[in-house]
Amino acid sequence: MVYPIVKYGQPVLEKPCAEITDFDSEELHKLIEDMFESMYAAKGVGLAAPQIGIGKRIAVIDISTGEDPGQKLVLINPEIIDTQGAQTSEEGCLSLPSFREPVTRAQKVTVRAKDATGKDFEMTGEGLLARAFLHETDHLNGTLYITHISPLKRDLIRRKIRKLQKADEW
Ligand SMILES: [Zn+2]
Repeated sequence: MVYPIVKYGQPVLEKPCAEITDFDSEELHKLIEDMFESMYAAKGVGLAAPQIGIGKRIAVIDISTGEDPGQKLVLINPEIIDTQGAQTSEEGCLSLPSFREPVTRAQKVTVRAKDATGKDFEMTGEGLLARAFLHETDHLNGTLYITHISPLKRDLIRRKIRKLQKADEW
């Protein structure tokens, strides 16, 4: 099932999400499937559960955008355990459609998380994957990428969004 993407302004996007403790539930596996489906439908490379209105610590990532099934990643209760270097490139978010801003992030990031079966794993990614680890883990902590840009640019985006909201176009 494809969920609609929750847009900036909804409180669920700015609240820390709840840890997952039950890995045997049919509901969890269905949710993960639906998250991949929703992410591909929206043409994203990552999606966090709050972006479909669910305040749980689950994110899915596929930087191949569905081209390579080997790159499908599920991060449950993820934690960033190491960061190295820096990279700056444009970042966007499905919850802030049509906006993109340069964001400086670590170049190399190690994440610790549980997979869909509840097994712990660690993974190190560089470049876009490192960026996705940080962006999605941020989401689960209630943080959006616009937190990492200048206050001036952030206010500008907020003002544009308020206008769109008034016009019922958000
Ligand atoms: Zn996002």
